[in-house]
Amino acid sequence: MSPPPPRPTIGGRHSLTAKQAALTLVIALLLSVIAGGIELASDARTMRQEVQSQTRHMLDLVQGTAAEAAFQLNPELAAQVADGLVDGEHVARVVIRDDFERIMAARGQAGEAAAGRLTRALFGDSLHYHRPLTYQLDRSGPADTVGEIELTLSLDSLGQAFIDRSLLIVSLGVLKALAIAALVVAAFHLVITRPLLRVHAAIAASDPQRPGQWPKPQLKGHGNDELGHLVESLDGLLKAFQHGLDQRDRFHQISTRDGLTGIANRRRFDSFLADSWQRAQRSRTPLSVILIDIDNFKDFNDHYGHVSGDDTLRAVASALTDTVTRATDLVARYGGEEFVCVLPETDLEGARRVAGRIREAILALGIPHARSAGRDRVTASLGVASAMPGEDGMTCEQLLESADRQLYHAKRQGRDRIASSHLE
Ligand code: GH3
Ligand code: MG
Ligand code: MG
Repeated sequence: MSPPPPRPTIGGRHSLTAKQAALTLVIALLLSVIAGGIELASDARTMRQEVQSQTRHMLDLVQGTAAEAAFQLNPELAAQVADGLVDGEHVARVVIRDDFERIMAARGQAGEAAAGRLTRALFGDSLHYHRPLTYQLDRSGPADTVGEIELTLSLDSLGQAFIDRSLLIVSLGVLKALAIAALVVAAFHLVITRPLLRVHAAIAASDPQRPGQWPKPQLKGHGNDELGHLVESLDGLLKAFQHGLDQRDRFHQISTRDGLTGIANRRRFDSFLADSWQRAQRSRTPLSVILIDIDNFKDFNDHYGHVSGDDTLRAVASALTDTVTRATDLVARYGGEEFVCVLPETDLEGARRVAGRIREAILALGIPHARSAGRDRVTASLGVASAMPGEDGMTCEQLLESADRQLYHAKRQGRDRIASSHLE
């Protein structure tokens, strides 16, 4: 069987949480840029309106005093009004004139050196204010124009104020985006990524040979959603896979086991012998085979019946497996009342010793055999053959034929004995 593929490990920037965090951050920043742009446009309009109404309000406040100054031709009073106004926010220059357009007071400079195009577009048409100064001599009479007040706002100051407000709006927007992104990532991690990681860990911890016994994760709160269904589907799939593996093992066992005795069958023996032969060829080690045939078994069946015959076959099989215990050896039913042992890395002397133990073990079963030609117990004849595979171009079939010939000799020589040969 080919080894299972290595399991991938996930971490760092490849993790689902990292990818989701990066994606959320990009989307949140993009949205904050769009939302910030809309907010800036609306804020610019609001700021224009605020500036205009504040300026008009300032002019409303000083209107009376300025008119008084113009009427009285009082430059000190006019200067006081101009000083007050020029201290106001964004005010660049204030000029108060009398009704002959002579300047009574002038304060400030109307320069706009650094103003950019955007600032000019936003505030360029809201910079200059003219207000006629009217004075009412008596309450019932009409008001006369006694002068004018001219106020110019500073484009640079307005631009700077707009930039400050914009920076605040953009920073707040980015902070909001970061906070939302962090919350979304945390929520997504808790609700989706963490349970998914648990499913991944459970699959990684499962034994590929026993997939049905995977540590199925219990995802609290996900019983009925897609994650819950994913775990259930995986569980069903792995159990079905396990069922298939079990069936494969069962079929394999059935196809390689002998139904009566439970030991390896002829099919298993054939492939085991071929494999052992090749392995011995590679390692240049000897390989031995013992063929075992129960003596006068036809007579045993005739005398004791087939059921007793089957019991005897099972008893002999278990005597063989109890005697040949080396993990690399194989005991199989060759057919009928014949058994075979394959002994890798065993020379003729070793195989003969094993054959001797087998013969003793079968005798030791003490199964009565009234019609046996020799003893009154069940006995067996054994043919042993050994070879050095790969030398002289010999095949494993020839080794088996040699063991069969030795078995024939053992039978010819009177049964209940061992005959052996070394293939040269
Ligand atoms: P030999 O000493 O020359 O081996 O004599 P034998 O009677 O053992 O040899 P033979 O090949 O003539 O007979 C083998 C007998 O083994 C025939 C059959 O009745 C019996 N036999 C083969 N398979 C089974 C089986 O599965 N169960 C039972 N009960 N008997 C079997
Ligand atoms: Mg036989
Ligand atoms: Mg026989």
